[in-house]
Amino acid sequence: MKTLRSYIAGNWHEASEGFATLVDPSTEEPVARCSTAGVDFGAAVAWAREQGGPALRALTFAQRGQLLRAMSGALREGRNELLELSRINNGTTMRDGNFDVGGGSGTLGFYAGVARGLGDRSVLVDGDGVQLTRDESFWGQHVLVPRHGVAVLINAFNFPVWGFAEKAACALAAGMPMIVKPATATALVAERAVEMVIEAGILPPGALQLLCGRTGDLLDRLGPQDVLAFTGSADTARIFRTHAHLVGVNVRLNVEADSLNAAVLGPDVAEDTATMGLFLKDVAREMTQKTGQKCTAVRRILVPVEQLARVREQLIERLTKVVTGNPADESVGMGPLATAAQLEDAITGTAELTAEAAAVFGAGGRVEGVGSPTGKGYSFGPTLLEATDAHDVDAIHRREVFAPLATLLPYDGSAVEAAEIVAMGGGTLVNSVYSDDQAWLGSYLAGAANTTGRIYLGSESSAGAAPGSGVALPQTMHGGPGRAGGGEELGGAAGMRLYMQRLALQGSRVMVDAVAGNSD
Ligand code: NAP
Repeated sequence: MKTLRSYIAGNWHEASEGFATLVDPSTEEPVARCSTAGVDFGAAVAWAREQGGPALRALTFAQRGQLLRAMSGALREGRNELLELSRINNGTTMRDGNFDVGGGSGTLGFYAGVARGLGDRSVLVDGDGVQLTRDESFWGQHVLVPRHGVAVLINAFNFPVWGFAEKAACALAAGMPMIVKPATATALVAERAVEMVIEAGILPPGALQLLCGRTGDLLDRLGPQDVLAFTGSADTARIFRTHAHLVGVNVRLNVEADSLNAAVLGPDVAEDTATMGLFLKDVAREMTQKTGQKCTAVRRILVPVEQLARVREQLIERLTKVVTGNPADESVGMGPLATAAQLEDAITGTAELTAEAAAVFGAGGRVEGVGSPTGKGYSFGPTLLEATDAHDVDAIHRREVFAPLATLLPYDGSAVEAAEIVAMGGGTLVNSVYSDDQAWLGSYLAGAANTTGRIYLGSESSAGAAPGSGVALPQTMHGGPGRAGGGEELGGAAGMRLYMQRLALQGSRVMVDAVAGNSD
């Protein structure tokens, strides 16, 4: 069994005790073990601050773009190996694995372009300058500069490559060194992805370090110039938000947490239209892709009461075709849940939801996976629930079941009611809405736009090109208010802000422009 290593202060560190065991979720066979026992967390922080930071800050945006391009290429070259590791550690099908692996290299590639576009400069100009007195002898300009600290990137188990890459892309473009900490359960994939980048000799010393296992006393060593970028559950986010040291020294924290995303069908959408086809296709995919283990998965499906029976029937028809089991078997279209703990949590969560909504397809429990040894594996069948009253339920709007499960919720077809029901989720990452009625959409947005980080408009005019609501494209912002964490990531150059200090430069226009790099 492979022992995963951490990469600290320029050396690979292999622990000799305190191991967590990683398993293949299709077979429950152990595949690796990892621990950070013996890691010198102080040395990691110092190495980043003293070596990586200065080296990255000495580069222009365009030069950092070259590093990102090379990182993207290293992951692309290693794609097949990473997909295989993803299968045996995450239980992903090729397609689901590529959503993570290809998404990671694609995001790095995108930010290579963003950084290149920012050019041969190292100060990021933010908006236009402004005249502050009667003439240009006193001028103001907002700019962003890299923070002189380390970015600690803590990721969730479901995106071991994309999770690392989307944060690393923005931190590196901004000029901050990183300590990457993947979730232990799926660190086999993340460890190899980081190792590929390090082996390729792309980055200056100190720019990228890796922790496979617990964080030890790392968080207590962070300071006011450091950043903690976290993706994971709301419960873990709470630990960081209330961590005495992090709060005391004001470490910048970004949280990408969980979300009960909603898909809303507008009342105008008739059967056999392109918009209805998109809605059904998107919802079925967003329920089952990556076995429902996506922060952007659809959990609540709002349907006008008159259309409910037909939508239920058509979704069931699609879910029936999903073959669940071991992705090593070619017939399998949906792998297992990633860990025993996830399976247990999904079963407990389903019990909470079925106290409020009836199962109309699937039973929300462990199933024998095709191609898995009998009695083994964490396969969970696709499950569709239905509530009779969307207002008179609580857990449906509160309890995330991180599995291929969603609940149909009837509503009266009015934009106002749909927005009210969606808001009961307490803030989401994405809200998909399917309608060709612009006036209805306008009313819906007036009530619902404040409750989410992204609204995906599904319509006849987007049906041919829309990639699905679950894709966090690097061009647009990822994050959401309230229980979704309140964070913001990606969104082009805006994604770099987390790792930079924004300040106002004031002085004569000549001097401000010269310092901001605006004069050439
Ligand atoms: P998790 O249990 O919160 O863990 C996330 C990360 O935090 C892991 O790397 C974990 O390390 C680490 N961690 C946990 N406790 C810690 C502590 N006390 N100190 C330092 N690090 C700690 O979440 P998960 O189960 O991996 O991921 C599933 C959740 O993530 C779901 O709720 C999902 O909605 C959410 N998610 C959100 C997004 C988004 O972009 N908004 C994306 C993906 C997933 P260990 O593994 O070593 O415990």
